Amino acid sequence: MSVYTNEKKTALQAVRKAAILCRRVQNTIDVESIQKDDRSPVTTADFASQAIINTEIRAAFPDDPIVGEEASDALKADPALFDKVSSLLEGLLDGDKKDPDILAAIDAAQPAQVDFTKRYWTVDPIDGTKGFLRGDQFAVALALIENGQVALGVLGCPNFKMNEKDENPGYLLCGIKGEGAFAFPLLADGSLGESIAISVDAITDPKGARFCESVEKAHAAHDVHERISKALGITAFPCRMDSQAKYASVASGDASIYLRLPRTAEYREKIWDHAAGSIVVQAAGGVVTDFSGASLDFSLGPKLTKNRGIVASNGKLHPKILQAIKDHGNG
Ligand code: AMP
Ligand code: MG
Repeated sequence: MSVYTNEKKTALQAVRKAAILCRRVQNTIDVESIQKDDRSPVTTADFASQAIINTEIRAAFPDDPIVGEEASDALKADPALFDKVSSLLEGLLDGDKKDPDILAAIDAAQPAQVDFTKRYWTVDPIDGTKGFLRGDQFAVALALIENGQVALGVLGCPNFKMNEKDENPGYLLCGIKGEGAFAFPLLADGSLGESIAISVDAITDPKGARFCESVEKAHAAHDVHERISKALGITAFPCRMDSQAKYASVASGDASIYLRLPRTAEYREKIWDHAAGSIVVQAAGGVVTDFSGASLDFSLGPKLTKNRGIVASNGKLHPKILQAIKDHGNG
């Protein structure tokens, strides 16, 4: 019996609904609108996804704060956008939700009112928006934090494949501290299939490892990653993927390493970009630290202010990666 039975059930339900909605919107995007730099599909799906997730969490755990990427200001100022968001939510919110409920759900918690050292949830309604718009990987990410550490995380990855041969993309991945990691197929009818236990790979020689990094050059220092991977003797081309699907790849053993060094010395990662992904990898037997080898500290606010860079691995390779970073990776 899990310590987090209710939390797991609620988080899976919330992310499942949000992932269905996002998948639906992504399927309607046409290439032309992207070429014109039209971000409206992601904007509407982003708000609707956060509204669904926050509504589910608030119904089950009314006292828990939720820290999300979006605030409702832009929605309040734009009635046409609000109408689009409301229509996306039809049939997904229980009962007869009124407009103010939708706005209130999106605004569930202001960071200034949250004690980050205690219990809170964090949500990224669409992580990897560039991938979402390109028709590639994106993730709906939800995590529960307790005492600065992630207790539970769910990643909804509608386009994720467990490996190259996987012909049925789309999974929810769930990691619970001390209880393992599982993938649930996200079926075409929007329901979840039987859970599959997942674990990181067993590679001990970095030469045979595959590493992943962001697609977007602005989000990570690809040149430094290349130096590190060369020092490790890695020969395979990096697997470039948007969103926390990179954590899903490491957790399911499809890749062995995820590197993310920010381009600038000042950049600090956001909690919602890493909370869910990092627990999925850890619960699958992997290790996640920053570039100095320190564990991620989620007790400090919306940003990981004490950590720079992210290294996720199968664990066995972690000491070698940190050594390579020390020797070759000082951005
Ligand atoms: P990815 O899909 O791995 O490229 O990561 C997407 C995330 O990158 C977004 O959710 C943003 O919060 C985050 N991001 C935005 N700008 C930067 C930046 N300059 N450096 C690192 N991450 C960023
Ligand atoms: Mg994000």
